[in-house]
Amino acid sequence: MATIVSGGDAYIGGSWTEGDGERIAVANPATGEQIGSVAASTELQVDAAVAEAARAFESWRRTSVLERAELCRRAHLICLERVDEISEMIAAEVGKTVASARSEMEGGTAEHFRRAAEDVLRHRGQVLPSTMDMVTSKKVIVVQQPVGVVAAISPWNFPVDIAAIPIVYGLALGCTAVWKPSEHAPLCAQLFVEVFEQAGFPDGVVNLVHGRGETGAALVANPGVDAVVFTGSVATGERVAREAGLRNRVLELGGNGPQIVLADADIERAADAAVRGCFYLAGQCCTAAERVLVHESIKGEFLETLLARTARLRVGDPFDPETDLGPLCTPEVLERTRLHLDDAVAKGARILAGGGHDGQFHEPTVLDGVTSEMLIAQEETFGPVAPIIGFRSNAEAIAIANETVYGLTAAVFTESLVDAWEFADELRHGTVHVNESTNYWDQLAPFGGMKKSGAGRELSTWMVDALTETKQISFDLARSGRGSGPDME
Ligand code: NAD
Repeated sequence: MATIVSGGDAYIGGSWTEGDGERIAVANPATGEQIGSVAASTELQVDAAVAEAARAFESWRRTSVLERAELCRRAHLICLERVDEISEMIAAEVGKTVASARSEMEGGTAEHFRRAAEDVLRHRGQVLPSTMDMVTSKKVIVVQQPVGVVAAISPWNFPVDIAAIPIVYGLALGCTAVWKPSEHAPLCAQLFVEVFEQAGFPDGVVNLVHGRGETGAALVANPGVDAVVFTGSVATGERVAREAGLRNRVLELGGNGPQIVLADADIERAADAAVRGCFYLAGQCCTAAERVLVHESIKGEFLETLLARTARLRVGDPFDPETDLGPLCTPEVLERTRLHLDDAVAKGARILAGGGHDGQFHEPTVLDGVTSEMLIAQEETFGPVAPIIGFRSNAEAIAIANETVYGLTAAVFTESLVDAWEFADELRHGTVHVNESTNYWDQLAPFGGMKKSGAGRELSTWMVDALTETKQISFDLARSGRGSGPDME
């Protein structure tokens, strides 16, 4: 396992320094063993980090785009070299398997550096014709300028990758950043910040502060922050949105994604997708299939296939390559999973597989007979449960799929182009996959939610838009003396 070499907890203005707040212990959810600790930052230190980021912004925004892209390319290679140690730290802190941590580091985090470097080099402004005057001398140009200091606040389930998106894109664009990672996964954040340090980004361009909600709240409240990119629960997101006020913000929040299996679906494929959708990362994904809607005519066959696949899953040590599901990260997630299962069973649902837990390790669970009045059908569970809901028509499935307050990701399984289009059109979710698991992410496509699942979109050009201010600059190029005279209307 990696050791932290940085000489402090917070990284401010290019120096590692001790946090000035409470010390937070970090426990391995698989063993309960304490694997480290970090000192949080109080408001005082958060303010210092924002001040450093604001100071660095003045020179960083004037740095050549080639230089920024080159630093990103260098960081990409360093990040790849450090994939194993960072992945192992992620597995130890949050309990996900090392294999999935590695794939998220390689395919997501490290690649953000390369993709951001490419995107900023291909980023274009616009020249518009004037529509106000009958002249050709007016030219309007549109540029996108870096927004300034970006506050990145991230959750524990993809503890490095999620924060890397706004930080790396922000830096490539000429913004600077202050990152407040999850209190449940601060150590992998330390290692990731070392990548920027090693790559040679200037002092103050990236800053790191640790802590719980109060530290995040102090960061959002700081008037020196120009944009907030927050990923986490709906409850916290609503508080952050109120505090962020008129500033640029992207909110990536929770979900209760439906996977819908129509009567003509390829059942094997749909069952494989449900396994990935419901049990990947033990269900602790914003894009998890939190409900599986199955047409009554094929429900028996679908369940038989799903149960056979579920029986093959192994729960255990995240460091064992044979493990499919590690422990749940926090006691709160376990408690909510138990509450949702108990509530569903009390209201008539039946557990067909799993249902038990051994400490933080929860069995992959298939729950049949789920109905709309159950908590599990309305709220985000975030545990390894496949709640099965039967339906008889497209209209009924669409109504159920749209009935929660969430709208992040949905999936529909069908061989019919007409049905696929109807669902894609009618589902009020930021992403609709056809014949693909809800847990599928394309790094060049817009990511984000409708309704309470969030506001704004991230990744690729959508991240560029979110972290820049669009400015119009108009020129009147009429030769002196040939103007049309003052217009005072
Ligand atoms: P959380 O809301 O508890 O915490 C997220 C972050 O916000 C943490 O760093 C936390 O310390 C910080 N925070 C807490 N209170 C704050 C406040 N008042 N002001 C500012 N920051 C504050 O979420 P979590 O338990 O870490 O993560 C799980 C949630 O995140 C789930 O709901 C999941 O669906 C969601 N999530 C969404 C996405 C997405 O892209 N839509 C991705 C991953 C996770």
